Amino acid sequence: MPETSEPSIFTRIVAREIPADIVFENDTMIAFRDINPQAPVHLLVVPKTGQYRNVSELAAGDPALLAELVGTAKHLAEEHAGGEYRLIFNEGPSAGQTVFHVHAHVLGAGPDGGLAE
Ligand code: ADP
Repeated sequence: MPETSEPSIFTRIVAREIPADIVFENDTMIAFRDINPQAPVHLLVVPKTGQYRNVSELAAGDPALLAELVGTAKHLAEEHAGGEYRLIFNEGPSAGQTVFHVHAHVLGAGPDGGLAE
């Protein structure tokens, strides 16, 4: 993100400037429930460090951080969704990206059923 841009909504969640239902946090990652869930379990996993707008920028700039993000998503899916899940990155406005701070969507089934096809 350019230095002149406003902090993203996710940076503001990290800073506790706006509330979120945080389910995990360590030095490099934060995860919280999506405010508009598209599945029984819908978490967002967000790197706290770096200034990457999307997953391909993260992959090019810090592949180890991307690997950590994927590992965090798996850990959370095991904890919250029985270990089976969709991992989604939207890249670009026409693909539905609205927050330009890299994040993974973790979508999982709840105790009563699966995900929609
Ligand atoms: P899309 O809005 O198409 O899913 P993104 O891939 O950029 O686009 O995802 C941004 C996600 O962030 C959305 O699923 C949205 O519901 C979620 N979101 C926006 N603001 C908040 C918030 N304050 N707390 C939790 N989730 C949020």
